[in-house]
Amino acid sequence: MNNASKINTSRSQELFAEAGRLIPGGVNSPVRACGSVGGEPLFIEKADKSLIYDVDGNCYIDYVGSWGPMILGHRHPEVIKALEKVLKTGTSFGAPTSLETELASLVVDMVPSVEKVRMVNSGTEATMSALRLARGFTGRDIIIKFDGCYHGHADTLLVAAGSGVATLGIPGSPGVPDAVIKNTLSIGYNNIDAFTDVMEKMGDKVAAVIVEPVAGNMGMVAPLNGFHEALRELTAKYGALLIFDEVMTGFRVDKGSAQGLLGIMPDISCFGKIIGGGLPVGAYGGRADIMDKIAPVGPVYQAGTLSGNPLAMAAGVATLKEISKPGFYEALDAKTEKLVTGLKKAASDAGIDFCAGHIGSMAGFFFTGGPVNSFDDAKKSDLDRFARFYRGMLTKGVYLAPSQFEALFVSAAHTDEDIDKTVSAASETMKGLV
Ligand code: PMP
Repeated sequence: MNNASKINTSRSQELFAEAGRLIPGGVNSPVRACGSVGGEPLFIEKADKSLIYDVDGNCYIDYVGSWGPMILGHRHPEVIKALEKVLKTGTSFGAPTSLETELASLVVDMVPSVEKVRMVNSGTEATMSALRLARGFTGRDIIIKFDGCYHGHADTLLVAAGSGVATLGIPGSPGVPDAVIKNTLSIGYNNIDAFTDVMEKMGDKVAAVIVEPVAGNMGMVAPLNGFHEALRELTAKYGALLIFDEVMTGFRVDKGSAQGLLGIMPDISCFGKIIGGGLPVGAYGGRADIMDKIAPVGPVYQAGTLSGNPLAMAAGVATLKEISKPGFYEALDAKTEKLVTGLKKAASDAGIDFCAGHIGSMAGFFFTGGPVNSFDDAKKSDLDRFARFYRGMLTKGVYLAPSQFEALFVSAAHTDEDIDKTVSAASETMKGLV
């Protein structure tokens, strides 16, 4: 962890230049380009446990965790063992394997509202398919989402979106026809009055309300008391479906996902990230009567050549088994609490406007006094200060997401020493931000 005050990233820079000639922006997902923090991406050579190593030999404590999946840390022995076992048998068959049922059964056991689940390959596919299902099931078109929530890059959902859309300040996206988004309404997160108003006006035309139960794509924003209760009550009243997009929160904030923690039963839930143990997986599941509307049982079509891929299923099964062990979430929660408390103290010692919080091992912070309960609040964060903080932490060996509008993830592999080092890096960095 001896990164000098200015780290050498020359090999990363060469590789980025080379990639830029062949790949748009040099990256296969926009936020990775690090443009909003005034930097260039690090090219990664390897990662192990809580640490990630770039191609120039620098080592960082990793709080990105591949944007959420790596709750066990990198290269967890049980995940590697499961992958090696599958590798001996083949990598894809396009036919059912028992691993798919094993993962489905873990999900159904762990997540309160899920009776049946369909595997896909990404979070985007999960939310896109869940919306088609909701529309097919209800025979209605209108979708309600919330400002600053990101649900993947399907056309219908690229409205007032968070994550990279927020980071890059893109209002919507060219290529998404007005006709496609005219049925998508986006309202303020945590704004119960606005939601009630919309439902009173058009609730009987709404197919689904989709929400990040704990928002993570405008930075981390927790739901206020009563928000999800209002969503559940009013969707039920008007016959609309409630979709929890648990791509980020699923198995992250609690073994039972956000719905387990909040005690809310959505009709459909979407998963990604942790469910694949670091391999590309998404899933959507819910009430059996709804899920049985999907082909081949029902008429709503959704398919996938690589869906249920055995390597991905094996990594998912190994991960869900590990996180089911007693005390797993309590330990993660305690570590994250220690980190967040340390960050807050570092900021207050430096006299910097700052607020931070966490739910389980999903954490977030903003350079504003807060409170941050919505995307409008999140946008009050001092983005220049964030960029300087990000760069300062990087030079001190701490790898954070390169955007204010992303969450921070602690893994089971983070040690107390990692947390202490991170907090002292933050104290030092904050002093330079005043
Ligand atoms: N929903 C949420 C809540 C997400 O955080 C993300 C990705 N960050 C997605 C959907 C899209 O998932 P993917 O990138 O796997 O398509």
